[in-house]
Amino acid sequence: MTEPDNFKHKIRSFLIFITYYSAWPFSLVRFCRYLKIPLLRVIAFHEIKDEERLNFEKKLDFLKRNFNVISPDDFLARNFSRDRINLLLTFDDAFTSWAKNVLPALKSKNLSAVFFVDDRGLALAPVLHKAGQTIGGHTVGHKRLTKITPGELESEIAENKKGLERAIGRRIVLFAYPFGDRQSFSQAVVDEVRKAGYEAAFTILPGFNRPKSDNYLLHRDSVNPDWSEKFLWMWLSGAYDLWKKL
Ligand SMILES: [Zn+2]
Repeated sequence: MTEPDNFKHKIRSFLIFITYYSAWPFSLVRFCRYLKIPLLRVIAFHEIKDEERLNFEKKLDFLKRNFNVISPDDFLARNFSRDRINLLLTFDDAFTSWAKNVLPALKSKNLSAVFFVDDRGLALAPVLHKAGQTIGGHTVGHKRLTKITPGELESEIAENKKGLERAIGRRIVLFAYPFGDRQSFSQAVVDEVRKAGYEAAFTILPGFNRPKSDNYLLHRDSVNPDWSEKFLWMWLSGAYDLWKKL
């Protein structure tokens, strides 16, 4: 990690810390709970390396204790708790190490997640599907969708969807924008995702999703399994949401 990154991360940690202790995030959470408005956080993991496996499993236990961890089916059926923060687990890209480091952990904890897979993961998708996990689209070649021609945009989204559906023998309805930041989607991209037949699409912009949230611009939190429980708790309570442009 370079120096400027380090500095940026220190500032980020400081802002999260002061926001958390200002209790502002809890007012929002309590307010929504009072009004019975369900709140959903969505976690995005990427690769879980061998040396991260233990930390990853501990984090799953921590999340189960502190949140209402829902399945992809619960998400699609809008089966949310109104008393606890709901949490959906997702994984992005196409890592063969998922079979070894993620699937057994999810199984032992009786959890299911969405795996957003690009075309590098066409052979992996049936393995994940047979293990009871949900497959989502993530485009053919993981390009920045705002930077390609309309023709490429259509095939990047539609061909990946067709390929995955052929691989698992089932329709897929969830999509995640590659990269997921503010430069990774536009109205044209959203329209193409909807046209392909997806019912919901996820960014990587942190935040709470509420019933009135745009179903094609859902918030997700990119989480590292090495974060401390305290930091993870502060982040998922919304302490970073105010500062997400950093
Ligand atoms: Zn990705």
